[in-house]
Order: sequence, then structure tokens, then C-alpha cells
Amino acid sequence: MATPDTPAPASDFVRDAVRRDIEAGTYGGRVQTRFPPEPNGYLHIGHAKAICVDFGIAQEFGGVCNLRFDDTNPDTEDVEYVDSIKADIEWLGFTPNTVVFASDYFEQLYSWAELLIEKGLAYVDEQDGETISAQRGGYGNPGVESPHRDRPAQENLTEFRKMRAGEYPDGSRVLRAKVDMQHENMQLRDPVMYRIRRAHHHRTGDSWCIYPTYDWAHGQSDAIEGVTHSLCTLEFDSHRPLYDWYLEQLPLPFEKPVQREFARLELTHTVTSKRRLLALVRDGILEGWDDPRMPTISGLRRRGYPAGAIREFCSYVGLTRTNSRHDIELLESFVRRELNTTSQRRMAVLRPLKLVITNWPTNPDGSPVVEHFDVVNNPENPQDGTRSVPFTGKLFIEQDDFAEVPPPKFFRLSPGREVRLRGAYLVTCTDVVKDEAGTITQVNVTMDPESRGGSAPDGRKVKSTMHWVSAPHAVPATVHLYDRLFTAPAPGEATGDAMDDLNPNSREVLSAMVEPALAEAAPGQVVQFERLGYFAHDTHTPMLFHRTVGLRDEWAAIQKRQQKG
Ligand code: ATP
Ligand code: MG
Repeated sequence: MATPDTPAPASDFVRDAVRRDIEAGTYGGRVQTRFPPEPNGYLHIGHAKAICVDFGIAQEFGGVCNLRFDDTNPDTEDVEYVDSIKADIEWLGFTPNTVVFASDYFEQLYSWAELLIEKGLAYVDEQDGETISAQRGGYGNPGVESPHRDRPAQENLTEFRKMRAGEYPDGSRVLRAKVDMQHENMQLRDPVMYRIRRAHHHRTGDSWCIYPTYDWAHGQSDAIEGVTHSLCTLEFDSHRPLYDWYLEQLPLPFEKPVQREFARLELTHTVTSKRRLLALVRDGILEGWDDPRMPTISGLRRRGYPAGAIREFCSYVGLTRTNSRHDIELLESFVRRELNTTSQRRMAVLRPLKLVITNWPTNPDGSPVVEHFDVVNNPENPQDGTRSVPFTGKLFIEQDDFAEVPPPKFFRLSPGREVRLRGAYLVTCTDVVKDEAGTITQVNVTMDPESRGGSAPDGRKVKSTMHWVSAPHAVPATVHLYDRLFTAPAPGEATGDAMDDLNPNSREVLSAMVEPALAEAAPGQVVQFERLGYFAHDTHTPMLFHRTVGLRDEWAAIQKRQQKG
């Protein structure tokens, strides 16, 4: 399996093409890519794949990768998104060569548009949007030429300048490329290059009232920057001939960038569409873009996913031209593998039940004795050392770890049974205390004073070891457990609307008791709560933890099932 330190797969269709270009001396051996997000939302796990591809390939071949904001839709874009995108890329471990904006090129794009008009390759269309799209036709349906298509160049130039000068209302005119209204590829049936839109732009303010379309801006921005390999997802496959057409019409005295498309990354039980994610935030279904249930990079970060695990997952998934949905359990297993080696172990009780050791000794002044046990922080990493954990006669254990009437195969605590309190003592349950409603409020045990450290001198065995927290030392904490955001593996597959598959119980909020060392947890630190899973520390007031992943590797189980067929 690939790891972040081993090189990415030696070969895939993009890397092979890059190698061929280097060998042939195309672009003078240069490799330059770009990652081109639209700043209209936060980045998600799908973007992480594109980032690993764009930045990763540049790095591997000694090239550079720009971060270019594709900011051509002022209506939906915002600096909040620009800032979050920059931060997420850095967090993922990549540094852009430069940060640029398509809007930096508005003036150049405009003058190239005039050039196309002068060459008779673009015209101003006064028809409304509906008419234009109806005339475009469809597969097997001929396109209908606009009555303005053959307007003389000089007149188009005058009209286009008036569009820019703000003489026409929004939506009343567009500039279209004059390509071929009968082309079998709809993208080439006289695509729109500019539309009139009076909207405040987060960078250019109100200086423009016409904005270039994605297609007109994209390839030209690539060319201006000197991009050599322009990588994007498969839905842009049909745009490639247009990408090439625009570049061919312009006086570009160097080898042109080439667009290549790869499969989008999709995961089971989640969605990777900014539009849908925005709806979850806007409708208050989740708490924000960084809600730990979000598949956004900021959500995954807050949930405790290490950047390295995300990179490793993206590299494992690799580059193909076949769209597929990967099991979310696969991503989780990369997360678990990394956290297993990096995260310190702590004890936390998620659903506390009082446990009292009735034969616990007292000091001469009558106060209960407090012992301290040295506990290894991370058995996977001895350098993490040990910590001292207090223990006394009043403890919390998990409600799940006690059964008054044990079902078959229940080996944890029940009346008359002896278990080990991890690293401390063997205890035997004597009786329970109940409230008026009959609910167990306290479990009483006696301990074997000879079993300090967790084993008896006579070597007798117990079937269960349980974690605990000393009650007088415990720190109360809120713990969020998360389930799948969508119940269906492919949200929306059955009904067409992903929201129909939204899991109404994707978060469970618990009042836990955690060991005192966790009061010093750093923000964002991920620890393993013994026997429970990995948890990311969030805030101190209130003390809050998010469950990153459980301990069980569900991916291994899935693979076994698949092997069995
Ligand atoms: P969305 O459909 O979620 O709005 P988008 O494609 O519009 O995403 P952009 O900001 O335009 O989002 O995407 C920036 C880059 O990330 C593009 O090159 C795009 O191809 C790539 N990208 C977007 N979504 C995915 C995905 N799910 N998997 C891989 N790459 C993606
Ligand atoms: Mg897009």
C-alpha cells in the first residue's frame, strides 16, 4: 500500500503523458499545473484528490503548481471562501507557487475577445437566454443560427464596447464565439463568452458589468500563466475541443497547454457537491462548513483526520478515467492507521456509571487514599513516555461494562464476577444501588489489595479488562459521536434527491467523564480513548471531543466479504 513517504504510483495516464512531454522536450521540459477552485464554497474531499493530483504531479516532476481562483461568477463568490481554500491547501501540506485569480486577467481576456470579434470569430447576440439555448438544438437536432450571427465585425465591436460600458441591462446581450452551429459537440455551437451581470465582485468591485464564462476564462488563464498540463475532472471532457479552439485563435507564440481529465472522487454515504454541501449549511442541518460530519477539508480536519492520511488515501485511489464511488471505510482505515501510530492513549468514560470500592483504604485523617499509576502514553511510540493517572475508591466505568443479569458471552462486570480495572486492581462486584425507578445508580465492588498493577500473585485469570476514570479527579466533557451523514451508500440514488437519504441521527451528544490529563489536550489534538476509538479535542469550555473513527477496521471486514464473493 502506498504511504505518504513512498512515491505515488509510478504510472498512470497523466503521469505517463507528463513523462512523454519531458522526454520529447515539449514546453522545454517544464511542468506547470494549477488548481483552479471557484471560491463559492469550502473545499471537500473530492477537491483534496484534485489538489494531490495538481500539486503532487508538479512536485514529482520538479515543476510548479499555481493556486488559481476561478472567480468569474461574482454572485456566488466570497473572500470567506478564498481564505478557507488557501488555509485548507496549506493544511493538506501543499504550497502554491503563486496565488492568482482569473479576475487578474479580465483586461487581457477582454482584449482577446475584441481580437476574436475583429477576426470575425465572435458576435454580440441580442436574443434572450432561453431562445439561445433552444436554438442550440441537441444530439441529432440541428442548431439554429442566431439572426445576429453575421453582424459585421465593426458593429460587433461597437456593441461589445457598449456592453462593457454598461449601456445595456443585465442579461440583455451576450458575446458568443462563432464556431459551428451544427457541430456534433454542443459545447461548440457558438458558446457564450461574456454575459452582462451587475454584481459586486469580491476583487474587482464594480469595475466590470460583463463577466467571462468558465470556458472563455479557463484555457486563456492557463496560457497566460504558462501552464503545461491542465488537469480537471471528467465532466470537462466535452469542453476540451472548445478549450483547444479558443487557444488556436489567439496569438500564442508558445506550446499550448493541454487539458486532461480524470475521474471525480466520490465516497459512499456522503456527497461531494458544493451546491449540496452549501444547502446543508444554509438550511441549518449542519452547524457550518466545518461541522465534523461534513466531507469538507475543514470538517475532516476538525473531526481529527490527519492531512497525511487524506493524502495517502488520494494516492491509493489513484488516477483513472472511470468514475466510481469509494467506500468511506477505506478512507477511515487510512485515518485509523495513522492515528494508531501518532495518537496518545487516554481513558474516558462516555456513559458513566459510579463504581465504589467498598474496601478501599483511608488515610489516618479519614480521607480516601489516592494512588497514582504510571501508564504508557502510546505503546506504538515509546518516545511518548508515560503519564501518572490517579486512582481511588470512587470511579466511573462505562454503563455498557456492567450487566446485573449478564447475557450469554458477557464477560464484563456483573454481580459475583471479578474483572480487571486496567493497570490498577482486580475487583469483584458485590451488589448494586438503585434509585426509586429501579435504575442502577452505583455498583459496589471489593478489590484484591494484592493485585496492584492488575494481576493477582496467584496468577488467577479474569476474562475482562475495563477502563475507568477516578471520580474525584474526572473532568466532565461533551463527546460527539458521529454516524454516516447519509444512510444510503449512494445518496439520492433511489429518489433523485440526496436529502431523502439524510441520516436524522448522524450525531449523538454524550456527557462523559475523562481522565484529568485530557484537561491539557491541545486544540485539534487527537487521542485514542482506550477501547472506544479516536477522538479529536475541540474546545476547553465546554470541554468538547469529536469521535474521529472507531477502533474496528470495517474496511478489512468489507474486503473479506468481497473476497468471499
Ligand atoms: P462542485 O461540483 O462540488 O461545485 P466544482 O467542480 O464546481 O465542484 P471547483 O471549485 O470548480 O468545484 O473545482 C476545482 C477543481 O477541483 C476542478 O479542477 C475540479 O475538476 C476538481 N474537483 C471538483 N470536485 C472534485 C471531485 N469530486 N473529485 C476530484 N476533483 C474534483
Ligand atoms: Mg467548477
